[in-house]
Amino acid sequence: MNTLLQLIEQGCLSYRHELPVNLHEYHQFRDALYTVDGVVIYKDRVIIPPCLHNTVLQTLHSAHQGVTSMMSRAESSVFWPGITPAIKDVRAKCNHCNRMSPSQPSAPQMPTTAPLYPFQCIYADYFQYQGRSYLIIVDRYSNWPIIEAASGHAGLINCLRHTFVTFGILDELASDGGPEFTAASTKAFLQNWGVHHRLSSVAFPHSNCKAEVGVKTVKRLITSNTGPRGELNTDALQRAILQYRNTPDPETTISPAMCIFGRPIKDFILILPGPYRPHPTW
Ligand SMILES: [Zn+2]
Repeated sequence: MNTLLQLIEQGCLSYRHELPVNLHEYHQFRDALYTVDGVVIYKDRVIIPPCLHNTVLQTLHSAHQGVTSMMSRAESSVFWPGITPAIKDVRAKCNHCNRMSPSQPSAPQMPTTAPLYPFQCIYADYFQYQGRSYLIIVDRYSNWPIIEAASGHAGLINCLRHTFVTFGILDELASDGGPEFTAASTKAFLQNWGVHHRLSSVAFPHSNCKAEVGVKTVKRLITSNTGPRGELNTDALQRAILQYRNTPDPETTISPAMCIFGRPIKDFILILPGPYRPHPTW
């Protein structure tokens, strides 16, 4: 990397045969290589030295994202020659992904009112795992996920209240029902805050389609971040959630963080600092 750095700064990348053999693969990228503070950059992507390739690949895959999602995350942050096959390889070799590839919705999305802004409508679901109860919330506009170890209607109310205060009061909460959602205290709480509760229709089980896929992904994050005895590795889980919040949606190419904050949030993937700053329209 030091040799590459020097060659770029001296403008000596023009002839492939003049480069050391292990730098030949950089020749085809020479027009877009430059340096910032001793770091080699390709376009606006940081070049990752070989000793860190594995760490970056593991981080890119920490939320068990598919190849497309990992690629689009890498395209705005990191690069090295051969990163694309390396990403495909890490997904192909992930036992967890191969065992539990996400079930895609089998029916097309039924028409529901599309939300107009973040946290206007959310989808919420409970998930039982290893004797614990997790509340999973996914915002239908941004796909922003929230996971809380919240049990019972008191836990649900606490988490919803915190969500309202952070992201704004919802218009609509959708769920498949369940005792926490239909408890009298939950009903009273939602009425006090002016939130409508919509039960996902049995006739249209995919009416929350995208949010339901989000919930399934979050469930996989929980199951894949537990130790051999079923204990939850909180640090790994939270890192995976952080990664997921920065992962662009394959359809819209916008990440939940981009949707909510208009910028990526700082995670474990190194990027140039520019994009962390608020967008000029702020
Ligand atoms: Zn995986």
